[in-house]
Amino acid sequence: METLTKIWLSSPHIGSSEQYYVDEAFRTNWIAPLGPNVMGFEGDLEDYLQEEVHVAALSSGTAAIHLGLKLLGVGKGDEVLCQSFTFSASANPITYLGSRPIFVDSESKTWNICPELLEEAIKERIRRGKKPKAIVAVHLYGMPYKVHEIHTLAEKYQIPILEDSAEALGSIYKGRKCGTFGDISILSFNGNKIITTSGGGALVSKTKEYRDKAIFLATQARDNAVHYQHSEIGHNYRMSNVLAGIGRGQMQVLNERVSARRRNYEYYLEALQDLDEISFLKEPDGMFSNRWLSCILTPSYGVRERIRLALENENIESRPLWKPMHLQPVFKGEPNFTNGISESLFQTGLCLPSGSNLLFEDLERIVEIVKLALK
Ligand SMILES: *Cc1c(COP(=O)(O)O)cnc(C)c1O
Repeated sequence: METLTKIWLSSPHIGSSEQYYVDEAFRTNWIAPLGPNVMGFEGDLEDYLQEEVHVAALSSGTAAIHLGLKLLGVGKGDEVLCQSFTFSASANPITYLGSRPIFVDSESKTWNICPELLEEAIKERIRRGKKPKAIVAVHLYGMPYKVHEIHTLAEKYQIPILEDSAEALGSIYKGRKCGTFGDISILSFNGNKIITTSGGGALVSKTKEYRDKAIFLATQARDNAVHYQHSEIGHNYRMSNVLAGIGRGQMQVLNERVSARRRNYEYYLEALQDLDEISFLKEPDGMFSNRWLSCILTPSYGVRERIRLALENENIESRPLWKPMHLQPVFKGEPNFTNGISESLFQTGLCLPSGSNLLFEDLERIVEIVKLALK
């Protein structure tokens, strides 16, 4: 029996001009970090995001979160509120700085950080004598979080927001692009994201000062002197000029990639929404998701596993929704404010293959298997 070709959850999808920019880097010997592709890529992102923002291209989204929190003044002994339902890279950098994550559960309309619980958490931590230094809010799977509610709270209590937009390039909240809301925002161009530089990220800020400081810290914090002199601890976090070339090419196809991912979601919705066992996260009014990953919810862990294993059996990769941070062994014992929502999403949810390069036949095959698994 022939084995069917593997269908991946979310694989890189290269356009027609990435190679050109990479070749250009070789032709001009701009192989080192910095160079015209890095500047070009940052400019492309600034144009795309439209708002008055300043972009620093970095080696990863994780590096961007690390530097972002540092710029917001997070340090040893501090506490940082963090959406629990997310990928671990949202939370790990909090610990790099010697500070402590306080996890906050999600609400059911966007699956992102819950405003009521967030306020409860802020009040409780202040009551205990320590005001949180920052809030990490995430647009998970491309769905914007409740920007208005969360930023109103941040304003009320004067706590800055690190907007984790790693999964949400191309998503829009009330006419404005995700990645432009935070005091500092971050993007990721990891291999599985909506566009990729094979590995990379960006820090987005509203002020040039933050951007310049990010680049300073990302390039070993070298003082302005002829010799190498350092008054601060630095990092090696800048994006390479070769990889930024891939990013330049990817920016030309970003809108197509968003359309293709949304098309996947629409296809699954159309084909599966009449099944009693499956439900979808709809876009609340004013929100536009890039549908980075198409997710379904099932009635139970058992049903979820039945679907996942049926797909695996046919060489199709799917994945449970993110395991909340407050349930991760590594964060055992950290304070959390929970309501059961992220835990239930983790138990019953599944990400279906969502690449922008999926073929119509792939989608048909996936839907067929999901339906059979539920028979
Ligand atoms: C991918 C991702 C990151 C980290 O980005 P990298 O570029 O992989 O370091 C951070 N947060 C979320 C929500 C992500 O999905």
